[in-house]
Amino acid sequence: MDHRILEMEEYAKVHHIPIMLKDGIEFMCDYIKDHQIKNILEIGTAIGYSAICMASVDSNIHVTTIERDEVRYCEALLNIGKVNMEDQITVMFDDALNVTVSGEYDLIFIDAAKSQYIKFFERFSPFLKKGGVVFSDNLDFHGLIHSEDEISSKNLKGLVRKINQYIDFLKNNSDYDTTFYSVGDGIGVSVKK
Ligand code: SAH
Ligand code: MG
Repeated sequence: MDHRILEMEEYAKVHHIPIMLKDGIEFMCDYIKDHQIKNILEIGTAIGYSAICMASVDSNIHVTTIERDEVRYCEALLNIGKVNMEDQITVMFDDALNVTVSGEYDLIFIDAAKSQYIKFFERFSPFLKKGGVVFSDNLDFHGLIHSEDEISSKNLKGLVRKINQYIDFLKNNSDYDTTFYSVGDGIGVSVKK
């Protein structure tokens, strides 16, 4: 298992795939363990790294994860197969803004296009249980620098503005208690009241 994780970290580095930073994923996995989270929805699978890490916390955890890039989707399926987690992780190949989900989630992890965070939150938060939590990654922007489709500085300015709007959106959302942590690339933790 551990060597599979290292293999994915290496692949992500070589292929410039913005997977979660080590301390960020550890922080989230600790939360999952401490709060006995079972049902997880992830927006932005990439190669399945964070989904596999989260599912590794407990064999009763199920992760539904959405990815729109076909190459990454295929790589994720490959990686999930290598660790025999097909039963624990369901990958949906589509744009998250087209996908309809069902059920109730304990945790929603938003880690896809940074310009769409408010839309993702509005689309998926109705499927979050009361007392459930939304984790939002990359609120400190550094991940953007490594994200090849978001690399031009013209875009970067717009994205910084978008993320600041999202941070304000979370702060002003009285249905949630949000705390911002400067762990990893900046993580928002929003608990549904
Ligand atoms: N959570 C992963 C990293 C995700 S990187 C990890 O830490 O291991 C962000 C991914 O979101 C990219 O692979 C990108 O293709 C995908 N993405 C961006 N916008 C999306 C959208 N609207 N719908 C689905 N996937 C999206
Ligand atoms: Mg991220």
